[in-house]
Amino acid sequence: MPIKRSWLRTLAWTLVTLVLLGMAAFTGFSGEYLIAGVLLLFGVLAIVVAGSGSYISECPVCGTELRGLIGLTRCPQCFSYGKISDGEYYELPPDFVNKIPVLALPLSGGREMPQLCCGCGAPAVRSEKLRIIRVEFAFDLNVPHCGLHSGGADLDSEAVAGKGKAQAPVLKVKSYAFYRACVQANYPELTKKWITQPSLAAAGKF
Ligand SMILES: [Zn+2]
Ligand SMILES: [Zn+2]
Repeated sequence: MPIKRSWLRTLAWTLVTLVLLGMAAFTGFSGEYLIAGVLLLFGVLAIVVAGSGSYISECPVCGTELRGLIGLTRCPQCFSYGKISDGEYYELPPDFVNKIPVLALPLSGGREMPQLCCGCGAPAVRSEKLRIIRVEFAFDLNVPHCGLHSGGADLDSEAVAGKGKAQAPVLKVKSYAFYRACVQANYPELTKKWITQPSLAAAGKF
């Protein structure tokens, strides 16, 4: 999917950057070095957001408009993951594996695990028990792994969109094949919209 720059968002974030850097310079001259350092850090972050966070595109799987395309982006509608490559936005290839578990699947739909390794997508032969304890929830989850990998997944929580400070559990994994199979197992109504993509790995995009 082609990406477009949202000039309104770029302008807004550029203004935020200038204000933060201006305040950093002012506090720096006043001798408040700690505050100046923090402001400088936020200023640099705002530059990143003004740069790549101001892009908008469409989800290649379901067509929803996506914003804030920094790193790996999860579509809020169909849960597919994608990223920018060569100036266009693509869904991740099925064999994509991230170095650390970041592909976050909301567990509100169910906790059915496919019999695949969450670290590489190969058939699973054993499982690892993960535990999460938060104010709102606490549970254990057995996550499938192959014989070669361990630590391919992590339990975490994320803010529920539109619900203030409410947190919901997510399972973070490395393998997109596992992630997709997990969405299929727990959100069958979502995956009806999923279309099979030609392998991007074969096209040399990744
Ligand atoms: Zn989508
Ligand atoms: Zn594995």
